Amino acid sequence: MKISFLGLGIMGSRMAHNLLKSNAEVTVWNRSASATETFHNTEALIATSANEAVSEADIVFTMLSNPEAVTALMTSTGGVLSAMKKGAIWADCSTVNPSFSASVGEEAEKHGIRFIDSPVAGSKMAGQNGELVFFCGGDEATIESCRPYMEVMGKKAMSIGPEVGKGASLKMLVNVMLAQSMVVFSETIHLGKQMGLNEDMLLAMLPNLPVIAPFTQHKTAAMKSGDHSDVHFPLEHMQKDVHLATLTAYELGQPMYLANLTKDLFAGAKASGMGRMDFGAIHKFLEN
Ligand code: NAP
Repeated sequence: MKISFLGLGIMGSRMAHNLLKSNAEVTVWNRSASATETFHNTEALIATSANEAVSEADIVFTMLSNPEAVTALMTSTGGVLSAMKKGAIWADCSTVNPSFSASVGEEAEKHGIRFIDSPVAGSKMAGQNGELVFFCGGDEATIESCRPYMEVMGKKAMSIGPEVGKGASLKMLVNVMLAQSMVVFSETIHLGKQMGLNEDMLLAMLPNLPVIAPFTQHKTAAMKSGDHSDVHFPLEHMQKDVHLATLTAYELGQPMYLANLTKDLFAGAKASGMGRMDFGAIHKFLEN
């Protein structure tokens, strides 16, 4: 099999390195060439253009920032879809909204490309350690063709539903909970400090209570130091994900009271220059 991986950011670079452990011939590409440097002494083929990267590929994985990036690279006129072999598979691992996935799936079909949406649960370390979980939407046979490679990049590939967009649907739910949990935890800590409770005690004790999401224990060191430069999940992508969840809710006529407020908190943090910090920086934003 020939597999191409496009988008070597925080997640994509780690996923593509793990993909090299499969028996496939792997070609990598990134818009900024500097991101390919860590592949120079590996078996990966490094393409100089995305269209060159995919021309022979049986499967193309993409891991891009947002819907705009997916459109620009893949579905725009002369984009990657038009350079792929007929019958090849495109698995989009980027976090995008379900209706967007459905529309690019239709676009792929017009080009004779089999498409699944396959966003991932797990952050930088899960990506590095091959512990991601893929949420897959689309035709079962297409998912099965990708499964061996997803199970090299992650620990599990789940079929969420036969329609394209079902993986993205589940991913929206996970991230909207993640964003809101971070805000809840952060506000709670700020109130605790105002009440004169010891911050170290709060940060050590609260994440172990059943009332709060366990991931918060990985955010406490940065919350205490105020240094959110060790980026696992960029704040700007969290803002995008909550925006896409509320957009989806709008499309479906579903009110999302807290998610809309949370979206604007992350938008405010991004506007204040925190976009490329870890999303835990919302703690600093709320403090100010
Ligand atoms: P990232 O480090 O910001 O990487 C984004 C990637 O998209 C880079 O390779 C970037 O290329 C590329 N890109 C952006 N615009 C592009 C365009 N117009 N054309 C071509 N390439 C473009 O982000 P990340 O953390 O790896 O996240 C990638 C995706 O995974 C996002 O959808 C995110 O929500 C999702 N995700 C992230 C995590 C996490 O914990 N980090 C976990 C699960 C899912 P350049 O290098 O040239 O800018």
